[in-house]
Amino acid sequence: MNMQSYVNEIFETVKKRNPGESEFHQAVKEVLDSLVPVLEKHPEYVTEGVVDRIVEPERMIMFRVPWVDDNGKVQVNRGFRVQFNSAIGPYKGGLRLHPSVNGSIIKFLGFEQIFKNSLTGLPIGGGKGGSDFDPKGKSDREVMRFCQSFMSELYRHIGQFTDVPAGDIGVGGREIGYLFGQYKKLKNSYDAGVLTGKGLNYGGSLTRTEATGYGLIYFVERMLNEKGNSIKDKTVVVSGSGNVAIYAIQKAQELGAKVVACSDSAGYIYDKNGIDVEIVKRLKEVERKRIKEYLNYHKDAEYHEGSTDVWTIKCDVALPCATQNEIDESSAKTLIDNGVIAVAEGANMPSTLEATELFLENNVLFGPAKAANAGGVAVSALEMSQNSIRLSWTFEEVDEKLKQIMINIYENASAAAKEYGKEDNLVVGANIAGFKKVADAMMAHGVI
Ligand code: GLU
Repeated sequence: MNMQSYVNEIFETVKKRNPGESEFHQAVKEVLDSLVPVLEKHPEYVTEGVVDRIVEPERMIMFRVPWVDDNGKVQVNRGFRVQFNSAIGPYKGGLRLHPSVNGSIIKFLGFEQIFKNSLTGLPIGGGKGGSDFDPKGKSDREVMRFCQSFMSELYRHIGQFTDVPAGDIGVGGREIGYLFGQYKKLKNSYDAGVLTGKGLNYGGSLTRTEATGYGLIYFVERMLNEKGNSIKDKTVVVSGSGNVAIYAIQKAQELGAKVVACSDSAGYIYDKNGIDVEIVKRLKEVERKRIKEYLNYHKDAEYHEGSTDVWTIKCDVALPCATQNEIDESSAKTLIDNGVIAVAEGANMPSTLEATELFLENNVLFGPAKAANAGGVAVSALEMSQNSIRLSWTFEEVDEKLKQIMINIYENASAAAKEYGKEDNLVVGANIAGFKKVADAMMAHGVI
């Protein structure tokens, strides 16, 4: 059997079953193309229909989320949870609150999560959820009422052994607190392990807040070390200014890099003296303001409208930490023309397929999201472990485990790439290494 035409057929079925869901198609296409050599070597995956099954979610829940705004007006949002794959552990993945959320976005994120979670080496399946609720401009009380309504439906579908949500865009400590409070009230049970990203005083893990950003930099450093290089003294451009961006900037600076830019959905800041991460933190985490306000604190920094133009800044290392498809072919070209040596994805699927292809063709070291941003969910799994043993590890203990996990992810992805004749192609390597563990568990469980 020709495996390329076999995966093409599966892709056609995915498109037919999920019409118009371009982000989901994109995520599936990238993985399917990586799997061709694996299927050639392991025809048993074909016989058992592993790939046909893995592209179809085990379950997808969609629900109404009604809430009352501060003016007493009834608002209705749409809630989602995709429980994509539970072969190696309970479904695990964040909740995204953003007006762009729809079935396609949730499915692409849930699909990516299967392979990412598998790569961490920890026992977690793949899931994702969220809503088209826009937290921007909402009061604390409105966010609370929304979260309570969202959990009033979600609670019956989740549990520490079933499905464990966490944060993603628009969901941080405040939202997890409201969600946990409502879950606890409805269940009359203190199931700490049902959500991760919790506050430290009620079952959260040290280092969880920093984990995705720190993990990204540990991964980049490992990737550069392989080529006898390091992030020290490199000029770095980061997009975004949320949780991932903030802690990536902090860790990169700690390792001696010069981070000159970050952004939000409206525009970007260029600070030739290096981004003042404490100000970004205050603006975004405490005051919930636009990044433009950075200029109030650093008069000689520049603000430019248009977030994707952040990629026109000359840099050695580019770290997309904002959102999906933020680097298209033309931004990738600009980065390459400006001499970028490494790109690593802090966001989920921030590079289009064409951009990824360009980076690989031009020998840019490329850390794909599934590998490079897995630190967040890895520490979530460590939070679940601590909840189970009812003990808390120190910051240093968790940070050390995180570092080791990121190094292992690099080694495994790199080894898989080499094994299948695609040396240095971490896209293929991460997809294969993530897939094999899940596929073998699915084989062991039978057709189910
Ligand atoms: N939303 C994060 C991700 O994309 C973290 C998920 C989690 O901690 O469960 O991996």
